[in-house]
Amino acid sequence: MSALPKSAIIAVVGAGTMGAGIAQVAAAAGHRVLLFDARADAAARAVEGIGAALGKLMERGKMTAAEKDALVARISPCARLEEFASAALTVEAVVEDLEAKRRLFTQLESIVGADAILATNTSSLSVTAIGAPLKRPERLVGMHFFNPVPLMALVEVVSGLATGAAVAQAVFDTAAAWGKSPVHAKSTPGFIVNRVARPYYGEALRLLSEGAADFATLDALMREAGGFRMGPFELMDLIGHDVNFAVTSSVHAAYFNDPRFTPSLLQQELVAAGRLGRKTGRGFYDYAQGATNPQPWTAPSTPAPREVAVNGPLGPAEGLLDLIRDMKIPLRERGRDNGQGYLTVNRTQICLSDGRSATERAATGHHSNLVVFDLALDYGKATRIALAPADQCNDAGRQSAIGLFQALGMKVSLLDDVPGLPVMRTVCMLANEGADAVNQGVCDAAAVDTAMQKGVNYPRGPLAWADAIGLDIVHQVLRNLFRAYGEDRYRPSPLLRRKVHAGTRFLG
Ligand code: NAD
Repeated sequence: MSALPKSAIIAVVGAGTMGAGIAQVAAAAGHRVLLFDARADAAARAVEGIGAALGKLMERGKMTAAEKDALVARISPCARLEEFASAALTVEAVVEDLEAKRRLFTQLESIVGADAILATNTSSLSVTAIGAPLKRPERLVGMHFFNPVPLMALVEVVSGLATGAAVAQAVFDTAAAWGKSPVHAKSTPGFIVNRVARPYYGEALRLLSEGAADFATLDALMREAGGFRMGPFELMDLIGHDVNFAVTSSVHAAYFNDPRFTPSLLQQELVAAGRLGRKTGRGFYDYAQGATNPQPWTAPSTPAPREVAVNGPLGPAEGLLDLIRDMKIPLRERGRDNGQGYLTVNRTQICLSDGRSATERAATGHHSNLVVFDLALDYGKATRIALAPADQCNDAGRQSAIGLFQALGMKVSLLDDVPGLPVMRTVCMLANEGADAVNQGVCDAAAVDTAMQKGVNYPRGPLAWADAIGLDIVHQVLRNLFRAYGEDRYRPSPLLRRKVHAGTRFLG
């Protein structure tokens, strides 16, 4: 089966945030769209809202008045569900309630034609469970759009136990024809995005609760070193802590309390306090007019090193050597092939985070002046970096490490010495979750990366990122975190281990 032709009629039930967006996207692709909502006038008001939104695009020269009018004219508000009889595809975007959705699809089954496809936009319910009472559950599929629908490219095409492969493929191809980036996924809690994204919030909340740094510093590091568009705390404030906490709690419960998804007490407290984020004027940040918010902690300016030595390979941090050369800082190379490498400035060892604390590394390596630095998406573009000095390190050692990274053009945030620094541990945990989704047959590796880039705007797919870091290093970071915390949360995915042993990669 291929994409539905433009002549196919698309029906949408639920004219709220998501339904209106889906109607707009289908109409923009040239389909006639029928829109129904249980609340009288809601569908008509949604069409007016779409017209107003398109009016803004028209003012910015993105479309002509004729195009706008034609698009709006293709969407017809309906007073009764029975008007859906001719629809080739019905997408449901009503309240997130299993019984409501089951009742609706049971009703739709007796209205639409024999070949019609039924799709649910559920973000957290089982597609299998929604389809269970249907006479023909094989024609029900998940079509999970992201908010705002006209702007977000991802569509998770979710197959329940009974969903027909041809039905899923037809919806996949149709989403692609609408200009979206669809991925196939098996119906499992959180599908792809709401599962694989959990560590982005979870690791940040843990770092905060362990006092590694304040939230403004952690946000700045994830943006400026990790390349993420928004830091985890500002993103949770935007999503709403009630929503974010509910998603984490439901995924945690749905995976039978797997510690990978354990919710945060810190976030629970915010919800209890009613500090839900932007929508209540306060979350981690204060959104009241004139409120002062904490700024990221930045080390004062420190002299640049006169010379740097490098021992062994730096792996994903090799790019630092080019920066050192570009800055014309003399670089002495010593024994470049003896295991995990490090930089030395004034007898201070400066090493990439490997999931151990600097304090443990200093103790086991018998070198007191040791400072660990974080991973960056691209050291050449990073404007800030996290450093954690060992407890044994003296002030001169700290200053040597700070001076080096400042000389390379980065602001430096000193963190308390927790195992695994923010970008490294977050990226390794995202990749581990993606690997487990692949291992459990939820989706393939390319789908994980497409989902995270197109659904939540990650700067790089977690599995391609893990390939670039080196899967042996990702595995080592996770093993060290697992050992440091003694928690199953950090157990490496069997697929990651297998790839390390086989010497293969996730992609290409
Ligand atoms: P919403 O509250 O904005 O809109 C829901 C609409 O459905 C309302 O207009 C309501 O009157 C109508 N409705 C409720 N029960 C109905 C019924 N039985 N028949 C017809 N209409 C009915 O909600 P939303 O944010 O658009 O979410 C809709 C669905 O999409 C939910 O399943 C939600 O989980 C999912 N979803 C939401 C988002 C998001 O970010 N908002 C993202 C992805 C998926």
